[in-house]
Amino acid sequence: MVTIYSKVKKQFNFGIIMSELKKPIRMCIICRGRFKQNSLARFQIHDKKIIKYSKKGRSFYICSECMSLNEMRLIKVLNSKLKLKYKKIEEFGEYFSDQVRKHN
Ligand SMILES: [Zn+2]
Repeated sequence: MVTIYSKVKKQFNFGIIMSELKKPIRMCIICRGRFKQNSLARFQIHDKKIIKYSKKGRSFYICSECMSLNEMRLIKVLNSKLKLKYKKIEEFGEYFSDQVRKHN
């Protein structure tokens, strides 16, 4: 009986591991760390502003740790990655500055 039980338990654990592995992993644009998709904030660029991902077009992800980074660092990295030239977080758009404020 013990062996049957441990066999079942092993399969059960394996099932959990497999479902973890199947969760999509995405890269944070700032720190390039890899995270589960559902733990990242997803954005896109529209009219040179950072807006909420609209499920259409290209998007990028930022992890919650990077969302709470020093503002200057965020601005610097986003300007270089997204080819924008903004000097203040507000210039990235209202939606994005709200999201950053929430994390700080
Ligand atoms: Zn990050």
